[in-house]
Amino acid sequence: MKDKQLRLFTFIVLAYMLLAFVWWSVLLFTKNRDAFQAKVELQKMGMVAEGLVTTEADFYSSERYLGLEKHYRRQEYMIIGESLALILSVLAGIYIISGAFKREMEAARQQRNFLLSITHELKSPLAGIRLVLETLLRRSLNAEQIQRLGENGMRETDRLTKLVEDLLLSARLETAYQPNREPIDLEELLSDCLERMRHKQADFQWIFTCTDHVPVIEGDKAGLHSVVTNLLENAAKYSLPPAKITLSLRKIDNHWLEISVCDEGMGIPDAEKAKVFEKFYRVGNEDTRRTKGTGLGLFIVREIVRAHKGVIELTDNKPKGTVFNIRLPLFHFAAEAVK
Ligand code: ADP
Repeated sequence: MKDKQLRLFTFIVLAYMLLAFVWWSVLLFTKNRDAFQAKVELQKMGMVAEGLVTTEADFYSSERYLGLEKHYRRQEYMIIGESLALILSVLAGIYIISGAFKREMEAARQQRNFLLSITHELKSPLAGIRLVLETLLRRSLNAEQIQRLGENGMRETDRLTKLVEDLLLSARLETAYQPNREPIDLEELLSDCLERMRHKQADFQWIFTCTDHVPVIEGDKAGLHSVVTNLLENAAKYSLPPAKITLSLRKIDNHWLEISVCDEGMGIPDAEKAKVFEKFYRVGNEDTRRTKGTGLGLFIVREIVRAHKGVIELTDNKPKGTVFNIRLPLFHFAAEAVK
């Protein structure tokens, strides 16, 4: 709210300055004209008294009058030019300030969202682990109950570990990330990612398709694993079971291959499509969002894809949902001759 008030105040001041400039320019313009007319009258009276001119026509073609008029016109152009320059500078100032405000507010919103989500993401697994430990300490449980509690505790620990890893990886991606260059059988890697997801979330319909022979490529196995897993996790997170989630791999041509993740979930509005790849960006407001997350996943995905000289795009799925397409160049790190 404070930001908005400050913004309003700045705009009122700038609008006042703009109006004041216009008003001063018009005033200067009319005063200059009045001064010119007074000078002309004075000159005319003087020249008539001296007997230099007898008619109006003589006066208006005299050198003194033409000199006065030339000076007047020059001043008139100067006033118009200066006023335009000032008004344009104020307008440019308004434009620049408005852009800076927008960026500032966006950054503040992301920071707020990040703090809210990170606090939640840190607190809730810790609370879960504490509950598991308290239950283990206070009650005498049978083996099956201990097993279940243990699994819950492991899940929460995994969540916490993933959060810390994502934070560290995103910091590394911004500074010093160089992808490994190890041979990768992408078909195997993708089907492994899918099987893990199928095991974790069996209530979705997980489909993997690979039509072409895709050559072994060189790249960062852990990085690409994290890319595909992040996209599959998002597909499940933003859909409702038993929706279909399709992972496909194909060779576009001899230079490019494509990995697609296609879901039937809530979709991403057009206005948000580019923003979702920004660090900590989450669609909507943290207070109203029901899904868990930090807004780091797609940032990590895009940075790893870029480090492999690839591109990532997202489009709408029909009739609903999202499709993420990753194109990776084969020539950059093809380990075997491209067939
Ligand atoms: P997180 O999932 O932790 O919020 P991400 O960076 O993975 O962070 O995603 C950023 C935002 O993009 C999400 O908050 C969500 O609003 C949107 N999003 C990502 N993937 C999908 C998807 N498959 N369907 C709908 N929305 C998505």
